[in-house]
Amino acid sequence: MKVLFVYAAFDRHAASNPELLEFVPMNEYLGSPSLGIASLAACTPPDWTIEYRDDRIVPADVPTDADLVALSFFTPAATRGMALADYFRAHGKPVVAGGLFPTMMPEVVGHHVDAVVVGEGEGVWPTVLADAAAGRLKPRYNAAPVDLTTVPLPRVDLYFGTGADDYPLQVSRGCAMTCQACAIPGVMDRHIRTFSLDHVLGQLEQLTRAGVRGCLTEDTGWFPGAAHRRMSELFDAVIARAAVAGGTAAQISYAGISMPMILATSTSFLQKAKTAGVDMFYLVGGFDPVTTRAFTGQDAKALARAEAAIAKCHDVGIEPYTSFLIGLDDDDEGTVDRMLDFADRSGIRKAEFAIFTPYPGTPSWYRLLTEDRILHRDWSKYNDANVVFQPAKMSPEALHAAYIRLWREFYAGRGHLADLPLFERTIQF
Ligand code: SF4
Repeated sequence: MKVLFVYAAFDRHAASNPELLEFVPMNEYLGSPSLGIASLAACTPPDWTIEYRDDRIVPADVPTDADLVALSFFTPAATRGMALADYFRAHGKPVVAGGLFPTMMPEVVGHHVDAVVVGEGEGVWPTVLADAAAGRLKPRYNAAPVDLTTVPLPRVDLYFGTGADDYPLQVSRGCAMTCQACAIPGVMDRHIRTFSLDHVLGQLEQLTRAGVRGCLTEDTGWFPGAAHRRMSELFDAVIARAAVAGGTAAQISYAGISMPMILATSTSFLQKAKTAGVDMFYLVGGFDPVTTRAFTGQDAKALARAEAAIAKCHDVGIEPYTSFLIGLDDDDEGTVDRMLDFADRSGIRKAEFAIFTPYPGTPSWYRLLTEDRILHRDWSKYNDANVVFQPAKMSPEALHAAYIRLWREFYAGRGHLADLPLFERTIQF
């Protein structure tokens, strides 16, 4: 038996807004597929062979000899994911779908597939495969949060050589917070579970052997608690290994973080992250208590705290690649000037700008549904680069124009970035 895993394509900022290519002197960062496929591949019994297609790199809708097609997609890729499902089913292949979007919207996806996996798939995957082999797939497999001590190392080797330019490292799953724009607590549970240190080091070892770097996309390692302890142990181990090898630690491409987390983290811990090879933060702003107030123009203290967070990054030598989210209910057209002023004053060199998007499963999705402010359900436009809801203080058109202006004016004085080495001028746009 053979299973074909497919990671579905989606539009990023420049694909949705081609004019960005005219004035943003940066390379587009492709990023890794989610770890979900690699983890399910590792849970696939040996009597199944595996094929993997990254639809972002080569369109996946070509015939296959697989006995089962397994699709993984999040909201920006949902339209494409469901079209791929239609294609494979039209060619006689049973299709199962999982990932963030199928978990949050199983009734939508269910019309296009034979089975939907809701939740973390590892625990039910052998059952799904057995049912597929017996020709009796069920429409729905509800998966409980996985005991991470039972999860084997992900088969990231499937991604090597496909054209991906980054690879995820996972320290933990779940989050106890309830940020408005985040689906993680809804999908992965509100309890943080950690991988063992051996598992995390094993993940890193796989990447090191392949000569590629990993990214710490989750920000939960910056909170006090189990995930923070594990991340700290990881940094210690990376530093110790680099010392033995007599080289520098440089296997971690970036770490996700927010401004309150930077402010709450000791300088010595940030220095440890830097020594362990974290040269860049993917610093997400616009949903936390500091940045949501900083850009309204009404809270000078919040603005000063945001500036202090950026200064702290610069002090330890970690580049604060900052993502500015615009479109929250307190944002108006003056927010653009305040964000640009802030970026200039604090010395931010690289930034991306995102339109607030109420992704299904997030608290903001449910709130805007209740307020009847969801404009449409064209999932391909749910990608931070289009307006899909009715803003509070701007028209949808004005919000989109504000977003374009942010990109244009931020990069207007930064043409020299085109001369940076490749990875340094790579951003998610
Ligand atoms: S953004 Fe980070 S802190 Fe907030 S809910 Fe998501 S994972 Fe948790």
